[in-house]
Amino acid sequence: MSKSVDVKQEAAGILDKLGVPREAWTSGDMPSFSPVSGEEIARVRTASAADAGKAVEAAHDAFKAWRMVPAPKRGELVRLLGEELRAAKADLGRLVSIEAGKIPSEGLGEVQEMIDICDFAVGLSRQLYGLTITTERPGHRMMETWHPLGVVGVITAFNFPVAVWSWNTALALVCGDPVVWKPSEKTPLTALACQAILDRAIARFGDAPKALSQVLIGDRTVGEVLVDHPRVALVSATGSTRMGREVAPRLARRFARSILELGGNNAGIVCPSADLDMALRAIAFGAMGTAGQRCTTLRRLFVHESVYDQLVPRLKKAYQSVSVGNPLETSALVGPLIDKSAFDNMQKALEAAKAAGGIVTGGERVLEAGKETAYYVKPALVEMPKQTGPVLEETFAPILYVMKYSDFDAVLEEHNAVAAGLSSSIFTLNMREAERFLSAEGSDCGIANVNIGTSGAEIGGAFGGEKETGGGRESGSDAWKAYMRRATNTVNYSNALPLAQGVSFDIE
Ligand code: NAD
Repeated sequence: MSKSVDVKQEAAGILDKLGVPREAWTSGDMPSFSPVSGEEIARVRTASAADAGKAVEAAHDAFKAWRMVPAPKRGELVRLLGEELRAAKADLGRLVSIEAGKIPSEGLGEVQEMIDICDFAVGLSRQLYGLTITTERPGHRMMETWHPLGVVGVITAFNFPVAVWSWNTALALVCGDPVVWKPSEKTPLTALACQAILDRAIARFGDAPKALSQVLIGDRTVGEVLVDHPRVALVSATGSTRMGREVAPRLARRFARSILELGGNNAGIVCPSADLDMALRAIAFGAMGTAGQRCTTLRRLFVHESVYDQLVPRLKKAYQSVSVGNPLETSALVGPLIDKSAFDNMQKALEAAKAAGGIVTGGERVLEAGKETAYYVKPALVEMPKQTGPVLEETFAPILYVMKYSDFDAVLEEHNAVAAGLSSSIFTLNMREAERFLSAEGSDCGIANVNIGTSGAEIGGAFGGEKETGGGRESGSDAWKAYMRRATNTVNYSNALPLAQGVSFDIE
């Protein structure tokens, strides 16, 4: 029996075990592939635009009931989801590896992130509080209350096929909002698995309204229904800047709320005082991990001229020796690209880099016997004379552009001179450099780290970025506020009616 048959069988075994109905993935109209073997592993049933419209209407009905359930009780459902995810961690993590090509520790790590956000959201369900504010009027009280917002549409990318849904869903559910999810067409199976896991939690919970959480498999036309439907109060859309450019004006046209989590072009700066051993490991994970397919992947590296010749040869060695291969059968650190178009885009960017004077280490395809339709590739390190051409754009593949710098002010400018603004890091033991990097004149990204790589954020912080990354924030901190509406309430408990700002309006 060939290994490629195993991928399909293993996926089927996991889907059965997690309770995903067979009709959803055995005889549908859309093929689903594993990047590990390149083969078709399932045929999923897609939703039509009409199905999507009905799903939103049903979710709106669910909203009317769910918003009246006390928030700590809503938190109980998310607590049960966390329990179910703990029980399903090994299976779901493995399915992530099969469907997105992640190495096992990253597949499991993604599920751990789901568990973590559930724990966070359970605590949050007792902390959805507003302020009490002093008023200028005697005998008055002013306060803020937070209310459930409405149906939340979630559109996700292939590279975090389950975690991003959970960041949104755990928060939306405690905030009183139903969720309709349109996962990436490249990763429908993990989405079906998540829905089955949540359905189990809902069954244990007992009296949740129907259609509190739904998944719609399909391409962008299904996503467009969520974007345009007047009953969808918030769309949280994760994906490319191209997608955000289409979605954002459509949402703005109907004044809907959005959380946009778009592309990144993340950079690191290695300063003269950096701990180079630490920097080396952080750079290697940030740039090569997940085969360069994280929104926070390190793509640009500025190295001070005084340490360039110490660091870059070691980095190149790491690039040449890193293990690339089947994440299910080997202990490789780098798995496959998602598909052929990702590989083609990578090669195009490398050609453009060469034309701009770049010197490329790696980047070649690694052919796995019997898996000619899978795309494994050696991560590429490209020494660039300056930041130009493909360096200015996100190519969703493992390419690290390395550039030398001499002046700290100039490198801060270069760092910020790209369209995206997601994640950034500096390696330095110099407190002035570190603090300037974090200051108003430093990194312009949503995530700025010191002596930590650009990728691998924790759920406790707000996640997201500026500029063409879209400006959205999700996950921890006060990101929950996007899922609720704020009301300012003023109560008059006096016998008079003083008007604000001393206005007098006395009628006879
Ligand atoms: P993609 O933009 O091709 O697709 C993302 C999702 O958007 C898919 O579900 C797709 O069907 C949907 N979609 C596309 N066009 C749409 C439209 N016009 N209307 C409605 N829905 C539409 O992205 P991808 O290739 O799956 O993922 C990679 C990209 O996602 C990278 O750019 C990466 O940086 C980004 N990403 C960002 C974050 C973040 O948090 N900032 C996280 C993960 C991935």
